[in-house]
Amino acid sequence: MALMTGEQYIESIRKMNMEVYMFGKRIESPVDDPILRPSLNSVRMTYDLAQMPEYQDLMTTISPYTHERINRFTHIHQSAEDLVKKVKMQRLLGQKTASCFQRCVGMDAFNAVFSTTYETDRKYGTHYHDNFRAFMEYVQKNDLTVDGAMTDPKGDRSKAPHAQDDPDMFLHIVERRSDGIVVRGAKAHQTGVLNSHEVIVMPTQAMRAEDADYAVSFAVPMDTPGVSMIIGRQSCDTRKRENTTMDVGNSEFGGVEALTIFHDVFVPNERVFLSGEYDFAGMMVERFAGYHRQSYGGCKVGVGDVLIGAAAVAADYNGAAKASHVKDKLIEMIHLNETLYSCGIACSSEGHRTESGNYIIDLLLANVCKQNVTRFPYEIVRLAEDIAGGLVVTAPSEADFRDPKLGPIIDKYLRGSSSVSTENRLRILRLIENLALGTAAVGYRTESMHGAGSPQAQRIMISRQGNLEQKKALAKAIAHIQE
Ligand code: SF4
Ligand code: FE
Repeated sequence: MALMTGEQYIESIRKMNMEVYMFGKRIESPVDDPILRPSLNSVRMTYDLAQMPEYQDLMTTISPYTHERINRFTHIHQSAEDLVKKVKMQRLLGQKTASCFQRCVGMDAFNAVFSTTYETDRKYGTHYHDNFRAFMEYVQKNDLTVDGAMTDPKGDRSKAPHAQDDPDMFLHIVERRSDGIVVRGAKAHQTGVLNSHEVIVMPTQAMRAEDADYAVSFAVPMDTPGVSMIIGRQSCDTRKRENTTMDVGNSEFGGVEALTIFHDVFVPNERVFLSGEYDFAGMMVERFAGYHRQSYGGCKVGVGDVLIGAAAVAADYNGAAKASHVKDKLIEMIHLNETLYSCGIACSSEGHRTESGNYIIDLLLANVCKQNVTRFPYEIVRLAEDIAGGLVVTAPSEADFRDPKLGPIIDKYLRGSSSVSTENRLRILRLIENLALGTAAVGYRTESMHGAGSPQAQRIMISRQGNLEQKKALAKAIAHIQE
């Protein structure tokens, strides 16, 4: 079974006995929880679209390892063309879900761990690449969703991992056994972790010799004893518990984060991809971050397409579509969104082969891509709110709209263009609210800022990769300067 249907995916997650907490209680059936279910539906879309002939080329490919058709989310990129298709696939999914569809972190971890384990083995004679290859083939054959967990809580930012007052502020090895390792720590902000069959854990930053126990990478199933999740709150999250589709804005899809705890979790040797080779922690981080910064040039663009569409519909419904400033604002939103896409495509087509044989993006361009993503969605949201008007945040609830006494009043006074129902007008405004301020704002705004690394992390990479010396030499040559 190299491709699961969406329904099979849901049932496979249902069978897992994950330890999930929310609002102070253990959630017995996360799959059926109204707050958590939209997030699962977003991942499901990665399975559903893979079944559709029109998307087969984008969503699937033939694995060079299993020789079967696999979902592209489990693929090891074999060419720059694969990298481009990845970004196009992510834009498509952003358009279909208007949220974070979560499965990319595993794909990005896959490709970073694939090449890093190869180079670690070459230096140290370890067998991490074989371990990873076996895991990768298992995931491809079973079409699993894998989370990629990188971000540690980090405690006091001025202190190295081993120097923290609490040694668990970075995930680390607490015991080395003949049959494996035992790890302790946590990973923060894990979007989609509760919708994943497996998690690949990676170090959060480059490590030094004193932090060797923190240079650890491995994979475990999400229902492994000792692994638990505490769900993060999102703005307007409990609207999903109310009996309303209107007020939620995007009632079907979403993304959910969790603080994920690894309390003395045993990892068998064959699932270990790095364990103490601290000089390769930085490479794994840089490559994962690079791939995920490329990803944002696809997923956020797709969500941006929905937001731009929503703003244009709101303008139509308000009777403002012909105003020249509204038209110009929509043009600006498209310009910004397509600039992000251009960056995603550019870092992909400039990709190159690694020593292990898979393809990696151009790191400078991927970091420029993500740096723009920390800014442009904010401007796109600002323009959407401008076009939509204040009703985005002042409209009454669906319960009032359905009330026999209040409904007709709302219907009368909140109508825009007379050819459009008040209900439709409110629905599109609620979608804008959801993307700008509600549950989806986590994915479209704050995740654009901090996901795949905060802005300063990209600036450090840009300064490293920017080759200022070469630019100085160019200027001196043109100016006929001889020193
Ligand atoms: Fe994929 Fe974007 Fe979500 Fe990252 S933020 S997992 S790239 S959809
Ligand atoms: Fe993300």
